[in-house]
Amino acid sequence: MTVTRMGAASVGLRGSMPHLAIAVALLAAGLARGQAPALSVQVLGSGGPRPSAQASSGTLVLVDGVPRILVDVGPGTLLRAGELKIDLSAVDTVLLTHLHTDHAGELPSFATARVLDGGRSVRLRVFGPGGNGGFPSTTAFVAALLGPKGAFRYVRHFGADLSIDSVDVITKPQSSSPARASLGEGLSLSALGHHHGDAPAVGFRIEHGGRSVVLVGDVDPSGLPAVERLARDADLLVISCSVLDPPDSPPALYERHSPPGEIGAMAARARVGAVLCAHLPPAVSARADAVRRSIGARFTGPLTLASDGLLVRVEAAPAAARPDAGRGQCRTDGDCAAGQSCFLCGEQGTCLAASCETTGCPPGSVCRPVNCIRCPCPPQCVGR
Ligand SMILES: [Zn+2]
Repeated sequence: MTVTRMGAASVGLRGSMPHLAIAVALLAAGLARGQAPALSVQVLGSGGPRPSAQASSGTLVLVDGVPRILVDVGPGTLLRAGELKIDLSAVDTVLLTHLHTDHAGELPSFATARVLDGGRSVRLRVFGPGGNGGFPSTTAFVAALLGPKGAFRYVRHFGADLSIDSVDVITKPQSSSPARASLGEGLSLSALGHHHGDAPAVGFRIEHGGRSVVLVGDVDPSGLPAVERLARDADLLVISCSVLDPPDSPPALYERHSPPGEIGAMAARARVGAVLCAHLPPAVSARADAVRRSIGARFTGPLTLASDGLLVRVEAAPAAARPDAGRGQCRTDGDCAAGQSCFLCGEQGTCLAASCETTGCPPGSVCRPVNCIRCPCPPQCVGR
């Protein structure tokens, strides 16, 4: 995963400032030679919902280097796109993970920006969750804002003629099969409902050119199994990390959000190649090291915490870098040799060799060097 930050870029996950100019130059040279990555994502909003210096949730998906899909469109995302001088004129698809204001509040402004791009007509596709008693469906939401009788209906003929095809993604959290759609040009979309308190919520998987990225908004712990199914073997998982591990966030937030420890365990089970934590309120950003440690206790692949403007190239994780690469080859005490069982749970061949050299244990704790990816195991670092 290559990471570039707005105004200050870095190569690799822990790149240093002297590399910034090189990174930008390499990226520009690559794009100029037609070597744009099949998929990359750019974070427009990494914060929300409270006022802060970060925009609310919004992530742009670039296909062959061209911004094509906007995943969530929270307040401030357009400002960031303007700062970054991003051309939105090819963005024809909006994926809404759920209909909270910090994820969907700027949809009318985005539509306005598109009709002012020039041209005679603009056609948008909007995918999002179905409704329930407390929330409209995505179709009803779009109609209430931008339909012929919507609050902002003037936008439909404001410089260009606007038409919007909206799609309600209705899958049950326990469903094992995501809904699928082709977006054309070799771009495929899968969607699977999960759980976010009382708000209907959907995660999306985008595949193109042999790369895959899964983007999930807020999800509570009961929705993580669905996210795990959607994200299995994906190259990159983008997921909200809006709370700290208990008890360090307000109790009510755990009804709607998953703690980093559970996100890390799920990412390890799903064998995703890399994780990008988005939707970081200031209280979480202030304890970034704790979040990294908690996710890294189970997920040992590349982990990045988002910031506005961050550009991430979706790269295939080398087989050796997959978090389960050590499956069947655990190296401690002969407890999980190939074909043998995990000494922790009896599962065959599912041990993961991971050492504290990669994840780091806090002072006073002890490293457990073997982790299992298919059953509840003690965390690697114990005795804290
Ligand atoms: Zn939410």
